[in-house]
Amino acid sequence: MNDGPSPRPGILDISPYVGGEAKIPGVARVIRLASNESALGPSPRALAAYAAAAAELHRYPDGNSTDLRATLGRHYGLDPARIVCGAGSDELIGLLIRCYAGPGDEVLYSRHGFLLYPINALAAGATPVAAPETGLTVDVDAMLARVTKRTKLVFIANPNNPTGTYISRTEMQRLHAGLPPSVMLVIDAAYAEFVQRNDFDPGVELADAAENVVMARTFSKIFALASLRLGWVYCSPRVADVLNRVRPPFNVNAAAQAAGIAALEDVASVDRAREHNNIWRPWLERELAGLGLELTRAVANFVLVRFRRPHDVEGAFSFLHARGILTRKVAAYGLPEYLRITIGTEEEMRAVLSAVKDYMVS
Ligand SMILES: *Cc1c(COP(=O)(O)O)cnc(C)c1O
Repeated sequence: MNDGPSPRPGILDISPYVGGEAKIPGVARVIRLASNESALGPSPRALAAYAAAAAELHRYPDGNSTDLRATLGRHYGLDPARIVCGAGSDELIGLLIRCYAGPGDEVLYSRHGFLLYPINALAAGATPVAAPETGLTVDVDAMLARVTKRTKLVFIANPNNPTGTYISRTEMQRLHAGLPPSVMLVIDAAYAEFVQRNDFDPGVELADAAENVVMARTFSKIFALASLRLGWVYCSPRVADVLNRVRPPFNVNAAAQAAGIAALEDVASVDRAREHNNIWRPWLERELAGLGLELTRAVANFVLVRFRRPHDVEGAFSFLHARGILTRKVAAYGLPEYLRITIGTEEEMRAVLSAVKDYMVS
């Protein structure tokens, strides 16, 4: 018996989010391929802007991220009034769910979708509902079949983490067309800048046209600012108004705003990151496939590798770990046979391949 304060229903059903490991005791130079962070690190211009912000640490930041939203608007051709910035896109994902769903409501996501969707649904007292995928890819018909009168939000990470797969612009349009106007479709395009497919759209077109579509973006991946916590959404003016009522007034710190602007303006840095990924993801995929391993058709800055039995995943993970290489187990996503590996530097890619090779013959 516990007479103390108890949290609202749902909260204790949450399994806390476990991030990728960052350290191995006793290993000085760890190869970190567990969190889909940038292989090349931040833009020198972003670092300079971050450092310059230090002189003003005694000031509150601009609570409206005005300059950052203006820069985002110019960069992507969007109306800044329809952009809301947050401390990482995860803050905005949480706020959207809290504003639009509560007890008795359902939040729909796909079976191997990003875990922050069900976690935030439970935190709001809502019920997360997982639709099955086909071939580790979002299945639009399966999603639509699970929409009920209680569904308030539908989340799609496109491309998805941890599967790395994506759905096309026309599939996303078909999903949207099948949803009632009262249901919000959130397209989480955290990895959009890495995708090199003609039939891919990060969600700009839909979010532009439809009141019930939100596109979420982040500075944590290709812009290499994960530590600063900076994300944004593009949405209808009414949704922006709702978010602006509930978000903390100074949710984005000044250093993050300044570094974000500089990172956006350093187009060459982003191009380098994309080109690096275009070389080393296919390289790692070819090499791992050559070892007889199965991979998903990933289009972001990571691969998802299948080992035939769960204990092989444990074995591979531990073998790599012992060599100072951190990868990500994804059993929490319903994928106990898989290991997710982020694309790192050339040296890191050669090291991880050679370790996997050695594991396979061990
Ligand atoms: C990494 C990631 C994000 C970004 O989260 P931040 O809070 O902006 O760092 C969002 N969605 C998915 C699917 C991701 O993998």
